[in-house]
Amino acid sequence: MVTIQNYVRAGSLEEAYELNQKRTSLILGGMLWTKMQNRRIQTAIDLCDLGLDRIEENEEEFSIGAMVSLRQLELHAGLNEYTHGAVKNAVKDIVGVQFRNLATVGGSIWGRFGFSDVLTVFLAMDTYVELFCGGMVPLREFVNRKQDRDILVRVIVKKRAGCFAYLSVRNQSTDFPVLACAASCIEGEYRLSVGARPARAMLLLDDQHLLDEELSEDSVEAFAGWAKIRIPTGSNLRGSAAYRSRLVGVLSRRSLNQLKEMQG
Ligand SMILES: Cc1cc2nc3c(=O)[nH]c(=O)nc-3n(C[C@H](O)[C@H](O)[C@H](O)COP(=O)(O)OP(=O)(O)OC[C@H]3O[C@@H](n4cnc5c(N)ncnc54)[C@H](O)[C@@H]3O)c2cc1C
Repeated sequence: MVTIQNYVRAGSLEEAYELNQKRTSLILGGMLWTKMQNRRIQTAIDLCDLGLDRIEENEEEFSIGAMVSLRQLELHAGLNEYTHGAVKNAVKDIVGVQFRNLATVGGSIWGRFGFSDVLTVFLAMDTYVELFCGGMVPLREFVNRKQDRDILVRVIVKKRAGCFAYLSVRNQSTDFPVLACAASCIEGEYRLSVGARPARAMLLLDDQHLLDEELSEDSVEAFAGWAKIRIPTGSNLRGSAAYRSRLVGVLSRRSLNQLKEMQG
């Protein structure tokens, strides 16, 4: 059970940051992960009054506030048009609509959870996190950082020309994924993001130049075989490392084939 001593609706990011410097304070997102824990929180800091519950879009980027819900991501026409539905596909199996109405982008990305579909899909895009103190950091760098006492303010996705695909395998719909996989080609650069390995998502780039500008069956097969070797996997109650490695091969092939269809 979680016990909260003081609840504060922060009036500014400065105030939230100051309050959060104490080890006994905690920023609240949707609280869905936090409430599963057994802990005492001296000061719970709510960011709900700071206008961070909006997705803003201009010609260059999407700016996604930390308090935007997963359901907002799922329903956002611009984001899903840009990602060919990959964002929607990544979040649609996360528990249920009521849950997705509460779970936030900030909590999902800040948590850097191994099982995260959200982290996996954003890692395949040209994504940055805006931190109150740390400024703008590429997600591919942020994903490997240790948690500190900063605040995630926004997630920024640059609208670079690209195509995207997202696939996951679940033992049962709405369960955590056994493996999650997002493939993209952004201005000619291929990226494969694999999450729920079960460790947190990692990015594999085509530095061996196995993939052609126009994907072919052979190049997709070669890259999928290479990904299977290069992506470390582990075992937990949802699946063994060997099973996950097979899935890396299968999901990377299928997701790249989806990109191939988009190119065609
Ligand atoms: C039962 C269950 C099943 C789930 N299944 C899946 C799944 O299949 N796929 C998937 O991708 N995810 C899944 N999740 C994770 C879920 O989607 C959210 O990622 C998770 O609940 C965190 O989001 P939240 O808004 O609830 O954050 P909270 O629980 O409020 O916060 C999580 C952590 O992030 C910190 N935090 C929150 N916002 C900020 C911020 N702006 N700046 C700094 N720190 C911040 C909090 O202090 C806390 O440490 C599941 C969660 C649960 C509880």
